[in-house]
Amino acid sequence: MTETATNPPQSLAGASAFPDEIPAIASDVVAIPGKKILLAAPRGYCAGVDRAVDAVEKALAHYGAPVYVRKEIVHNKFVVETLSQRGAIFVEETDEVPEGARVVFSAHGVSPAVHEQAAARNLFTIDATCPLVTKVHKEAVRFATSDYDILLIGHDGHEEVEGTQGEAPDHIQVVNGPHEVDEVQVRDPNRVVWLSQTTLSVDETMETVDLLRERFPNLEDPPSDDICYATQNRQVSVKELAPRCDVVIVVGSANSSNSVRLVEVALDSGARAAYRVDHASELEPEWVADAETVGLTSGASVPEILVRDVVTRLGQLGFGEIEEVRTATEDIIFSLPKNLRSDLRSAGQQPDRVHPARAARKA
Ligand code: SF4
Repeated sequence: MTETATNPPQSLAGASAFPDEIPAIASDVVAIPGKKILLAAPRGYCAGVDRAVDAVEKALAHYGAPVYVRKEIVHNKFVVETLSQRGAIFVEETDEVPEGARVVFSAHGVSPAVHEQAAARNLFTIDATCPLVTKVHKEAVRFATSDYDILLIGHDGHEEVEGTQGEAPDHIQVVNGPHEVDEVQVRDPNRVVWLSQTTLSVDETMETVDLLRERFPNLEDPPSDDICYATQNRQVSVKELAPRCDVVIVVGSANSSNSVRLVEVALDSGARAAYRVDHASELEPEWVADAETVGLTSGASVPEILVRDVVTRLGQLGFGEIEEVRTATEDIIFSLPKNLRSDLRSAGQQPDRVHPARAARKA
C-alpha cells in the first residue's frame, strides 16, 4: 500500500471521493507567518473516474471477489492498490482472465477488438468506459463512415488513444503534438477532421490545431469539445492560482495524463516551480522551504484523501493557512454501466447515483 495514504475510506467513490469542504489545518500545526496554501477547486475526481471506481466496488460487493479489471481502472496508484486489496485483479489483456469470468473495462475505453476478444472467451463484461470517451469513439466512427481522414491529437500508447484508434484504424492517424504536424499526410485535404484525447492541455492542443489548419485550411473541428469538462476545469483553476504561487504541488500518478498536464500548465502560467507527487511522503521539504505560497491541486483520478494527506504534510512544514481558489462548481454524475445497474436492481438494490453536492443541496 502507498506509504502515507492514511486508512482508505470504506468506499473510494461518491461522497468520500469528492472534495466537499476545505481540509482543516491540524490544530497542533506550528504555523510560520506568511506561509499559505492556495487550494484549487475543482480538483480531484471527475464523473468518469467516480463511476468507474464505483463500478468495481459495486461489482465486488454484488458478485464477490475476484473481479478482473483490464488495465488500471483509472490512472491512480492508490486507487488501484486499494481495489486490489479488496479483491480486484488487474490484468493487461482479456486473455489473462479465466473463461467465463467477470471483467471490468477501464474508464479510458477499449477498441472493438477488445470487446470481440472478451466475447470469444465468454467473459461477462462491465464496461466502465467514461461516456465522454465513448462520445469521441462515436465521432471517430461517424467521420470514418463518411471516409474522412481523422487526425487524433493525443499520446501514442495511451490506452484512451489506442481505444479510439481501434474504432477506425484505417482512417485515424495520431498526432502527438505540434512537432508532428509536418509529417501528417492525408488523402484529400478537403475531407479532414481533428479529434483529441480527453485529457490534453487545452492550449497545446489548440497550437497543434492551428498548425494543422495552416496545412489544411478546410480542416473540420469536432462537433463538440473532446477535451472534457473536468480536464478543462482543473487547468483553469491552476491557471488562476499559479501566478500567485512560488510552488505548485499536483497530486496524481505519473501515468495520469491530466495530472502531468497540470504540472505543465502551472509552470506555463507563472508558478516558479511545480511538482507532481503520488502521495504526501514524496513531497520534499526543500521544495517548499523558501516558499511563502504553495498551490495545491490534484488530477481527475485522485481521491480527496490524498490531497488531505498533502495538506497535513504542508502543515508539518509550517503552512498554517489555506485559501480555496474556486473557478467552477461541478455536480456531474454518470450512471453505472447498464448491465451492472440492471443486476443491482434485480437484487433489490438502488443503483441510481447522486453527486454529493446535489444531495447536499436537496437535504
Ligand atoms: S477525465 Fe474526463 S473523459 Fe476522462 S474519465 Fe474523467 S470525465 Fe471522463
